[in-house]
Amino acid sequence: MVEIRKDYFTDKLSIILPDRGLKPGQVIPQKQEKCNYCSGNEDLTPPADLVLVKRGDTLLKQTDSEGDVVKNWSVRIFPAKNPLVTPNAPPSYGESPHYSEPAVGYHYVLVATPKHDQPFSKIDTEQWTNILASLQDKVRWLYSQKGVSYVLVYVNSDEKGTPTTIHPSIQIVTTPRVPPSVEEEAEMVQASLNDLGICPMCQVVGTETGGPRQILATDFFISFAPWVSTHSFEFWIYPKRHMTSILKLTQKEMMDLALMLRSTLGGMAKALGTQEFIMVFHSSSEKKTTKQIHWHIEVYSRKPQWTGLELGGGIYANETPPESAAQLLGANARKELAQLVGIK
Ligand SMILES: [Zn+2]
Ligand SMILES: [Zn+2]
Repeated sequence: MVEIRKDYFTDKLSIILPDRGLKPGQVIPQKQEKCNYCSGNEDLTPPADLVLVKRGDTLLKQTDSEGDVVKNWSVRIFPAKNPLVTPNAPPSYGESPHYSEPAVGYHYVLVATPKHDQPFSKIDTEQWTNILASLQDKVRWLYSQKGVSYVLVYVNSDEKGTPTTIHPSIQIVTTPRVPPSVEEEAEMVQASLNDLGICPMCQVVGTETGGPRQILATDFFISFAPWVSTHSFEFWIYPKRHMTSILKLTQKEMMDLALMLRSTLGGMAKALGTQEFIMVFHSSSEKKTTKQIHWHIEVYSRKPQWTGLELGGGIYANETPPESAAQLLGANARKELAQLVGIK
């Protein structure tokens, strides 16, 4: 059985996956040794439908064909081996209070670098620009497919685990409805636009600029630790101008975002001494009928130690005030930026 279920009362969703033969508590089979994502192991993944290759000064978009994989790539995007959603999910419809719908969609993996030992914090700005351009391409294509209401993009950056969880990759998962956390933001933005004619996220960008929670500002982006940080060292990256989607990024803005990502992720790895983090892209849905947000990126350092307060109350205890987080992350990110701009 694979289906999407909705909560009895709220908009909370759960994808119920088929039993993959794991014992309770066992999450990932441990026998895998080779890394499927490494350069040279292209045959271990499904054929890639977007391969970015650098030949001289030119970037080419290529495609694997069965038995003939593209080598010497910079970025690869292919269907996930164990997808959360599939285009041919079995029909599974249930009415409230046992609401369910088929887990229809596409799950792709973007391998962010051919180098296994190059963590996200060390991916250079040129490569980040390539990643963002490939991502834009794939997300745009996915929105043109049937049954896609939303394209969720996220990163689980790991230090331990299996080779493929360590090799830097980005998950691209489509959903047949807008995820609740994005929908909640969209409702809030829409209400404010209707009532006051103002985007509340533009307002927050204004309020946090130059304040005690700012981490870094580049030409087109700002990063800051949010007022309510649910996790230690949580930070957000916002475009300064009102922009609804990652698809609207210009080439110049993409290069600037690459600088922001390299500086903040590099700074965070130095400050905290770990490569572990979760990063989520919150972009508006491209479906015409849906409400829009001011797109942004949310970054969470790992290890949420949740108790009954968080799980039961939705109240987060955070031992790092965002102002202190911004000071430490900011100092490190500015050092990274100075080095990068210096090298240029
Ligand atoms: Zn690898
Ligand atoms: Zn805005």
